[in-house]
Amino acid sequence: MTAPVSVDKSSNNTGNNAGLVVENLHKRFGEREVLRGVSLQARPGDVVAIIGSSGSGKSTLLRCLNLLEQPHAGTLTLNGETLALKPDRDGSLTAASPAQLQHWRSRLAFVFQSFNLWQHRTALENVIEAPIHVLGQPRAQALERGRELLARVGLSHRQDVYPAQLSGGEQQRVAIARALAVDPEVMLFDEPTSALDPELVGEVLKVMRELAGEGRTMLVVTHEMEFAREVASHAIFVHQGLIEEQGLPREVLVRPNSERLQQFLSGGL
Ligand code: ADP
Ligand code: MG
Repeated sequence: MTAPVSVDKSSNNTGNNAGLVVENLHKRFGEREVLRGVSLQARPGDVVAIIGSSGSGKSTLLRCLNLLEQPHAGTLTLNGETLALKPDRDGSLTAASPAQLQHWRSRLAFVFQSFNLWQHRTALENVIEAPIHVLGQPRAQALERGRELLARVGLSHRQDVYPAQLSGGEQQRVAIARALAVDPEVMLFDEPTSALDPELVGEVLKVMRELAGEGRTMLVVTHEMEFAREVASHAIFVHQGLIEEQGLPREVLVRPNSERLQQFLSGGL
């Protein structure tokens, strides 16, 4: 056992245990600036709910965090390590090397609205893909952990089934198990229940609640306001590429200050 190290969090917001720190993120598509300087922090164990109307930049923000989209400016720091970025041919920023990109992505796992499972692989094969090919785990070890993770999302009995034979809720739970398999420091969820039939939403939210309860650091773009109010530790309202308002969910989502957030919450935006 190593002695506990005491860290003064207030003196340094980018230290080893500061979680994810995003500073001044900008992203353009052509002439259109979709992110106009977004800064946020998710400390270890935080569940950050990101809300906002369609087209406000929520997906782009999340996708920039693990470089599914390349930002044009900004810095990303994860538990004290700032990602080295270099300009690409079109002026956007990319990781310094393909190896660094792959490593970064394994530290921030992404769960998509549309699941994005490999259709020609079984549930278990989907889960063990990254541990074997990205982390270089021996197959036996990846299989053992993969089975554990499928059990954890309630899908032991479905491990040898192909995605097409799974319900949407089951596919999304496989996708969550797949994300967990690389043991990420942060999990990014982009509207994970929006593609599901209403009766399947609950089984996915239940798994996400459990992950939150275990202290997972999560950023969740969501329209599930009840989930945001009950599970999130922090809520962020994005409007036209900027954070318009943020704070404790029970304040931001219940007594919003900005008129736009009031409108959004009453269904008018
Ligand atoms: P949200 O997730 O909040 O609905 P997005 O981040 O998907 O919003 O999109 C923000 C804006 O960026 C929208 O106007 C959208 O049309 C535009 N956009 C998103 N992705 C692309 C892309 N790959 N190419 C061009 N424009 C895009
Ligand atoms: Mg989106």
